[in-house]
Amino acid sequence: MKLVRLTERLWYYPYEFDRDRPNLGYIKGDNWSLAVDAGHSASHTEEFYKALEEEGLPLPSLTVLTHWHWDHTFGMHAVNGLCIANSKTNQHLIEYRDRIAKEGPEWFIKSHETIEKEYADNSNVIVVPADIVFDGELLLDAGNCPIRIFQTESPHTDDCTLVHVINERLCFIGDANGGVFPSGEKDKGLCESLVKTLSSIDVDRFLEGHWTPDTLQGIVDDLMDFGD
Ligand SMILES: [Zn+2]
Repeated sequence: MKLVRLTERLWYYPYEFDRDRPNLGYIKGDNWSLAVDAGHSASHTEEFYKALEEEGLPLPSLTVLTHWHWDHTFGMHAVNGLCIANSKTNQHLIEYRDRIAKEGPEWFIKSHETIEKEYADNSNVIVVPADIVFDGELLLDAGNCPIRIFQTESPHTDDCTLVHVINERLCFIGDANGGVFPSGEKDKGLCESLVKTLSSIDVDRFLEGHWTPDTLQGIVDDLMDFGD
């Protein structure tokens, strides 16, 4: 698969349905590059890096996690540079790392068919915590490229981080606009809270974890559709 270019400084490596691999974002500043999400496993991360190399782009110095879910994070042990996550995301990762260390990886691999497909090559399930942990909000500058990363309430998980690439007028939202995995159930209050957050971000487009870029209206319409 090839990278998709969105703006002068923004690309993403597209999602894949079968193995539930999410979009992996890439932001190139004048001084360093940031990735959004680490990948489902080392093999996903390596594919992403190969696509970056094909485009002549430097590997990311820093990878920010949108939330703890395995498909976004279990490639962390294979990333170039450092990983940053909010403290809740990091806590979830530590719980999974400890449970896999204690009980082995079988229960995890068998928990969903997309995970079985991801690990069909019998590679090890390796979970590591982040190198840098934050709470609330941080402003990064990759070199003439300010990036605001901040926590938000979401119906998907309790640990969502949004990545607002200010001058590129785009915000990465991970799976924040989805329901709980795997039922898809959505708490209305949390949906309303997220709509408020997203509406306050001055961007042209949002990029969610498992879809193509969308407008605020498109995201909000989906989020507030409760099928009744
Ligand atoms: Zn998720």
